[in-house]
Amino acid sequence: MATTSAFQPNARGYYGEFGGAFIPEMLYPNVEELREQYLTILADPDFQRDYQQLLRDFVGRPTPLFEAKRLSARYGTRIFLKREDLCHTGAHKVNNTVGQILLAQRLGKTRIIAETGAGQHGVATATVCALMGMECIVYMGKTDTERQRPNVERMRLLGAEVRPVTSGSQTLKDATNEAIRDWISNPVDTHYIIGSVVGPHPYPDLVARLQAIISEEIRKQLLEKVGRELPDYVVACVGGGSNAAGAFYHFLDEPSVKLIAVEAAGKGIKSGHSAATSVLGKPGIIHGSRTLLMQDEDGQITEPYSLSAGLDYPGIGPLHAFLGASGRARFISIEDEPALRAVAELSRLEGIIPALETAHALAALDQIGAGPEDIVVLNLSGRGDKDLDTYLKYAEQMH
Ligand SMILES: *Cc1c(COP(=O)(O)O)cnc(C)c1O
Repeated sequence: MATTSAFQPNARGYYGEFGGAFIPEMLYPNVEELREQYLTILADPDFQRDYQQLLRDFVGRPTPLFEAKRLSARYGTRIFLKREDLCHTGAHKVNNTVGQILLAQRLGKTRIIAETGAGQHGVATATVCALMGMECIVYMGKTDTERQRPNVERMRLLGAEVRPVTSGSQTLKDATNEAIRDWISNPVDTHYIIGSVVGPHPYPDLVARLQAIISEEIRKQLLEKVGRELPDYVVACVGGGSNAAGAFYHFLDEPSVKLIAVEAAGKGIKSGHSAATSVLGKPGIIHGSRTLLMQDEDGQITEPYSLSAGLDYPGIGPLHAFLGASGRARFISIEDEPALRAVAELSRLEGIIPALETAHALAALDQIGAGPEDIVVLNLSGRGDKDLDTYLKYAEQMH
């Protein structure tokens, strides 16, 4: 792994002007312990053996790289889908939780906390806690527990305790605040598993490294299939940015590979109902790091909107803020309707029903400018089963 890369954070966790660790003093010992130890633990052969074994036997890796021939014909280019939808629990999120639970064990922790919005990260966390027999507490805004009932039931079935949060807007940011409060009160025995490349240093780098398995596999699989490791384009959707960070990671220092990050424009960039942080966001501090976030004139965080629950986050990870600012990645934003149409299109052309988050990346395919000779890898971050109610409700827009 190149340490000289401009796309690795410096010692204080900065990617250019973004990143860092802006935390209350009471949280300092917890974050500092993690920062001092994470690289050593990740590099330890014993950790690597357990991590690789779980990725293989529990998660089901390597996930296939599938050449989507009918989709390719439709867009006049050669498209490969990286099938993260085939991971255990139906999305890439478990790559991170498997790694963090092994890290937590090596830090001597016995209790796990997490925040969740739509519930997908909560389920991925509850899953690995069950696997390891660890206590699991998931903070979730009360509004979200009502909107995402099946995921609450899944977490409970897996043995986790779901704590509904009734402060503020009763959504993700309030759940995050509550998780941080818990961590301050339980510094010795508790590890906080953050679900994306967000939060104070070292979380963005930790989660990016745990998701980097995606691009590590893509390079090997492309070499086998087409005789070269480098695609011309890598396309991924961005909520906080973890699946995109994993898909981009081993291509960051390969300038010939064009990186395309796709955000949710919701009802439209100018509608006031959007989650397109790279367009609407300004530098500010959210969840302990300096990054781009959607805020009003007083610096108050504004509620993001996307029909897709996994993309309605008001910020993006500091790595992505830097990829955008430095021009290394191109950002595209996609509204709800084209995303819904992309769900139907992939389902019918390839027999794969994607998650609504992933569909935003699919809907960007006609904007990236790929030609017949180009190789495009699209990270299929998750499967669509969880979104079936939404697909039924909007069936008319999808035809
Ligand atoms: C959570 C989720 C996302 C968004 O999270 P990132 O950290 O940006 O990857 C995207 N796709 C699926 C299927 C998800 O569950």
